[in-house]
Amino acid sequence: MNGAPHLGHALEFVHVDALARHHRLRGGQARVQSGTDDHAIKNVSAAETAGVPVADFVVANGNRFAELTAALGVHTDAFLRTARDPRHAPGVRALWRACQAAGDLYTKDYTGWYCPGCEQFFAPDELDGGACTEHRAPVVEVTETNWFFRLSRYRDRIAALITDGRLDITPVERRNEVLGFLAGDVADLSVSRPVARAHGWGVPVPDDPGQVVYVWFDALANYLTGLGYGTDGTDFGRWWAGDGERVHVIGKGIVRFHAVYWIAFLLSAGLPPPSRILVHDYLTVNGTKIAKSGAQAAGPADLVASYGADAVRWWLFRAPAPTATTDFTVERLVAAYNRELANALGNLALRALTLARRDADWRTPARTADVGADLRAQAAALPTAVDDAVARYDVRGACAAIVALAAAGNRFLESEAPWQLARQAGAGDAAAARRFEAVVDAVLSACRVAATELQPFLPDGADRLITQLAPGARPTAPAFPRIGAERRP
Ligand SMILES: [Zn+2]
Repeated sequence: MNGAPHLGHALEFVHVDALARHHRLRGGQARVQSGTDDHAIKNVSAAETAGVPVADFVVANGNRFAELTAALGVHTDAFLRTARDPRHAPGVRALWRACQAAGDLYTKDYTGWYCPGCEQFFAPDELDGGACTEHRAPVVEVTETNWFFRLSRYRDRIAALITDGRLDITPVERRNEVLGFLAGDVADLSVSRPVARAHGWGVPVPDDPGQVVYVWFDALANYLTGLGYGTDGTDFGRWWAGDGERVHVIGKGIVRFHAVYWIAFLLSAGLPPPSRILVHDYLTVNGTKIAKSGAQAAGPADLVASYGADAVRWWLFRAPAPTATTDFTVERLVAAYNRELANALGNLALRALTLARRDADWRTPARTADVGADLRAQAAALPTAVDDAVARYDVRGACAAIVALAAAGNRFLESEAPWQLARQAGAGDAAAARRFEAVVDAVLSACRVAATELQPFLPDGADRLITQLAPGARPTAPAFPRIGAERRP
C-alpha cells in the first residue's frame, strides 16, 4: 500500500481470478479473497513523504487496487482492508492470544540487521555485501525489545508437511528453496515492533500497549479474519476449517512468509495450514525492474484503458514464465493478442460461421466419422489438457492448449478447402455437400470447446465468442477485434 498497483499485481489478480473461474466451470465452489496490508511501517514513511495522514494514504492506495481488479474483470468475494475492516483487528488479537496460549510468544531485547523494505530482520549470512537481496539496499542495525515467536519449535513439522505433500508448494524450485531454509538453523521470529518505531501504526499487542503486532503477523491473519475468525466466524468453518483446499497465490519474494512463518502461526494456534502455495515469478517492463521503472511505465489500469482487459489479461497468462523473469513491452502485448485471439481463434470462428451461412440448407449434419476426426479428438481432449496445466499452475500452458486447438482448426480448414466443396455442392455434388457440412461442423464444434475453455481466462471475450457460436446467431463483428500498438484516445 506504499504505492500504486503495478503490472505484477495485475498478474497475480488475473491468475487468481482464472483459477477460481476454472474451478467453478468444472462445478466446484471457490471463494476468492484479496486485500491490502495497510499496517506496514513503510506506509507511514510513504504517507509522510506524500504529506497525507497514513490512514488516508492507505485508503487512497487501497482504492486503486480495488479499482484495478474491477478494470481487469477480476471477481473477488472479499477484498479486506486491514486498517479499516472491523473484523481484522479482533481476529489478529485472537490469533495472537492463541499463539500465546500455546506458549509460543515471549519478549526479549534484540539487536539485528533490519531491512526497512522487507520489514524483516536478517542473519548476517543472508545478506549480500550488507544489503538485503530483495531490495539491494543496505540493512540497518536495530536494537529494541520485541515479542518473539518460537519458530524453531515448528521447523521439523513444517518440513514434514511439505515433504509428505500435505502442503504443496508449486513450482518445485520454490518448494526446494523453502526446504533449504528449513534445513538450516531456524531462529525465532520477532513478531512485534515498539509503538514509537511504528509511529503508533498497527494493531496493539494484547496487554502490551507499548508494542504493535508485526505487520506480517497482522497481514497474514487477513486470510482468517476475512472469514470471520475471532469475530462472527461465519465463513471460517466452511472455507478454512472445512475439507476444501486453501490456496495462496503469491510472488516469489514472500514465499518464506507464507510457507514458513504463516504455517508456524497456524500450527501454533491449532488451525489447519494451507493446502497449496502457488508462486509466480517477476516481471520487468521494457527491460527494467518494475520498482525502478516508475509508476507511469506500463501502469496496468492505463494498459486496460488503452488495449482492453482481454488483451492485458491474455499477456499476463500467455507470457510470464513460471520460474524466470519475463519482460513486458506494449508491442508484445499487442502481438500476442492479435496473433492468438484476433487471428487464430477469432478469425477461425468467423470464417466457419461465414461458411455456415453460405449453405442455404445448413443443418446439423449426420457426422461423417472420417471427416475432421483428428480435430474433434483434439477438441475433446482440450478440457483435460487445460485441467492438467491448471493443476500444476501452468496457466501459460493451459492457454497454449486452447490456441493449439484454434491453430489445428485453421490448418484443417486450409486442407479441406470447404469453399471449393461449396462450389461443387452448388453444381449438384451431394457428396461434396455432405463433406462441406461435416467440415464446417467440426470447426464450429472445436470453436465452441475452445470458447468454453477460454471462459476462465477471458470471461468477456469468451462470452462474446460463445454468443457468436450459438445456433442461429448472425455475428457481424469479430469477437476479438485486432488492436494497434498506438494508444486508443
Ligand atoms: Zn529488503
